[in-house]
Amino acid sequence: ENVLSQPSNKPNDKLLGGLLAAGFDEASCTSRYQSSLYRKTSLHKPSSYLISRLRKYEDLHKRCGPSTESYNTALQQLKSGQTIGSPDCNYLVWISFSGLGNRILALASTFLYALLTNRVLLVDRGKDMADLFCEPFPEKSWLLPMDFPIIDQFETLDQKSSHSYGNMLKNNVINASTESAPSYIYLHLVHDYDDHDKLFFCDEDQSLLAKVPWLIIKTNNYFVPSLFLITPFEQELSKLFPEKGTVFHHLGRYLFHPSNHVWGLITRYYHTYLAKADESIGIQIRVFDSRPGPFKHVMDQVLACTLKEKLLPEVDMQDSVVTISENPKLKAVLVTSLNSGYSENLKNMYWEHPTLTGVVGIYQPSDEGYQQMEKQMHNRKAWAEMYLLSLTDALVTSSWSTFGYVAQGLGGLKPWILYKPENETAPDPPCHRAISMEPCFHAPPFYDCKAKKGIDTGTIVPHVRHCEDMSWGLKVV
Ligand code: GDP
Repeated sequence: ENVLSQPSNKPNDKLLGGLLAAGFDEASCTSRYQSSLYRKTSLHKPSSYLISRLRKYEDLHKRCGPSTESYNTALQQLKSGQTIGSPDCNYLVWISFSGLGNRILALASTFLYALLTNRVLLVDRGKDMADLFCEPFPEKSWLLPMDFPIIDQFETLDQKSSHSYGNMLKNNVINASTESAPSYIYLHLVHDYDDHDKLFFCDEDQSLLAKVPWLIIKTNNYFVPSLFLITPFEQELSKLFPEKGTVFHHLGRYLFHPSNHVWGLITRYYHTYLAKADESIGIQIRVFDSRPGPFKHVMDQVLACTLKEKLLPEVDMQDSVVTISENPKLKAVLVTSLNSGYSENLKNMYWEHPTLTGVVGIYQPSDEGYQQMEKQMHNRKAWAEMYLLSLTDALVTSSWSTFGYVAQGLGGLKPWILYKPENETAPDPPCHRAISMEPCFHAPPFYDCKAKKGIDTGTIVPHVRHCEDMSWGLKVV
């Protein structure tokens, strides 16, 4: 369906039902104001409480952001290592780390934590954050100033760092009765974090951390599900998100606006290949294998899933002569993969054989071969592809992939998830419809803070459950 030819949306839609603040310079970030032309109106309304908390956050950010008086005062504290009294503003510095999908999910989780704890979020620009995304908050930048005191230590911060919360606890540098808190703590929430680091998710530890003006966080995880299990956040979260499984859907649409470069990639591709289709589907093929592929078992699985779920039409292998109507329905299939083999195969199949229902166009924007870190265009394309996938009518994603989670969340789509193949065979059933559009937290803690023993955190409340694609992961439903 051509969204651009529909009568224009309600005026409010431009700001996504009040989710986005007005008053930005439109030319500096075209995507913020144009996204509603490409997306169907979300079926999920942001709560008025979420909207009011976002406006409040924006005020806080304006008051405390870089180069304000409060920021400079807090910076002095950080440099001197001492906390004197309670500062006006507390900060949460997010370190740029890991693949782009992981980064987007980690940053959304970090922003939610900032909202819950009234902290100001500052984003380390890493190699390309400023190139990929627009500023999300009015007037004051979310980017961490380049002259930030410990910025050159960011890369080396890891599980062993003496400033990590886990190690400070282990070494008795701090404990629950600590009076004078350190001026900063490093939160190591990367997948290799240990039991001490994981105490971050305990109620008592949150009251200790609340005394620390600067928290510096490194994570490659969507840790939102475990925030729902922290008692002091429970009530606030249910007010922010009365419809629980919409956290990333709303926060993602609020925070992540493609920069003008990336918006060019998205809109040119959309108009060339997707806009004229009657229906579109996205297929995200991510194979976690060091060999390049393509693999037959993956192709078999994609076909088994899409045909069984009637996402793609069957072809007539008898090649009976089918007379095509004058105006056949066009189904556009957007394939994203590091390898071009799967889409070439599909393209040939629909050229060589007829279907009973119209024609099928197969499009793949890029095939970059392998994950690349240093090339600017590489991540621009990756971001454009996640976004394009989110604009399709139905989505098929690969297990374990944050790339797919970003697309499903932004699009508000419950994808069909391709189960992870074992021993080079396509699993049966090949795929399964997701129970919610939320991303999966891949490395959750399994600890009962009160009883001080292990517990299955996927069975404590009905809205935090194990994921479809990873049995030990947690997701909000
Ligand atoms: P995940 O590893 O699937 O969870 O996703 P990430 O986005 O965190 O890391 C994978 C990275 O590999 C991406 O950021 C891209 O750089 C690259 N990549 C993986 N799949 C694709 C794809 O389909 N298209 C493009 N352009 N890049 C991809």
